[in-house]
Amino acid sequence: MNGWELHLRSVLKDIEAAGLHRRLREIDSPQDTRIRFEGWELINFSSNDYLGLANHPVLKEAAVQAVRDYGAGAGASRLICGSLKPSHELEEALTAFKGAEACLTFSTGYAAALGAIPALLGKEDVIVLDKRVHACIVDAARLSGARLRVFKHNDLDDLEHILQWTRSRITEHGSRCLVVTESVFSMDGDLAPLREIVELKDRYGAWLMVDEAHATGLFGERRSGLIEHLGLSGRVEIQMGTLGKAVGAAGGFICGSRTLIDFLVNSARSFIFSTAPVPASAATAAAGVGLIQSAEGVERCRRVWERAAQAQRVGGILPLKTGPLTTAASSPIIPLIIGDEQEAVRLAEALRARGLFIPAIRYPTVARGSARLRMTVTADHAREDLDQLASALQEIVNHKS
Ligand SMILES: *Cc1c(COP(=O)(O)O)cnc(C)c1O
Repeated sequence: MNGWELHLRSVLKDIEAAGLHRRLREIDSPQDTRIRFEGWELINFSSNDYLGLANHPVLKEAAVQAVRDYGAGAGASRLICGSLKPSHELEEALTAFKGAEACLTFSTGYAAALGAIPALLGKEDVIVLDKRVHACIVDAARLSGARLRVFKHNDLDDLEHILQWTRSRITEHGSRCLVVTESVFSMDGDLAPLREIVELKDRYGAWLMVDEAHATGLFGERRSGLIEHLGLSGRVEIQMGTLGKAVGAAGGFICGSRTLIDFLVNSARSFIFSTAPVPASAATAAAGVGLIQSAEGVERCRRVWERAAQAQRVGGILPLKTGPLTTAASSPIIPLIIGDEQEAVRLAEALRARGLFIPAIRYPTVARGSARLRMTVTADHAREDLDQLASALQEIVNHKS
């Protein structure tokens, strides 16, 4: 074995010793509230498919129809010859859904961040991130070379402090400043104070980018996200999202002004230098966006919020590092914060032995010492699924004391 291989082994050993080792689990069933893996059938409380669309007959049919009409592959990047009709139809649907002027889709949400941020900012500019934004935004910020500043999670005073610092750079050096936050935070399920952030960025002449990965499909009259719910559609310059969560498909997007989108078509490298998503992917996502806005979408959204409230009560059975859960769930993401990495893994295993799947989320996805069971619910969970989880948690807690 050569030296490099030995080095990799020793790093892996350290990861394992710290209780942070991860491996893939092959799932031998569709994405649903029941999943089958390694011979187990488990109730799945880990998916981001909040509205239960990933395995929905309407979306599956849209995928099949797109394969029939446009084939299996996209053939090239959009700017070469891969700009197939389903991508254009999806972008029109997203533009209307998000109340924007225009939209550009990417192969993933990750690619959307990695394309847009370095296109917009360079080393003379400033990017200001909430401490808990997703890894793709952190990576994109680093890639841009812009001056990176981080404000404490949801802390408006800290954000304002940083914006005061950027003001002189903006006025004296012609720098641009972009503030980036999520609307629903992926690992904590809490909400950003978007109204106040919009006020602040306006006051200090910055732009705002909001990642609605976990809010799209769940908030607002059209269910397009927290921006719509708070009536801020015209005031957020860059609306980002993924098509891989509540929309039930895969892909990412940026919505904004016509100018912004034309600019990204000409400068977002993850868009320009990458093969277009397959037509089935765009068509599936468009069907998902349509379904979210239908009467069935209303009903599915109502159900997921009902389950989230129930899940919040069930989560209260565990003694948590952060103390009791608040009474109302702010999203379908209920983080049960355990703290210790090994303890979180043990709990996840105890649940799995009882037929329930809630993964332990550890560093580097969350901070060290804040390992958690990240429980999510979907519109397709039954009340009884959560009753079963409640009995299992009760049994685990009793067993320990
Ligand atoms: C999942 C996620 C992304 C990335 O989207 P993908 O389409 O999965 O690449 C971006 N931001 C947040 C907050 C996410 O949770």
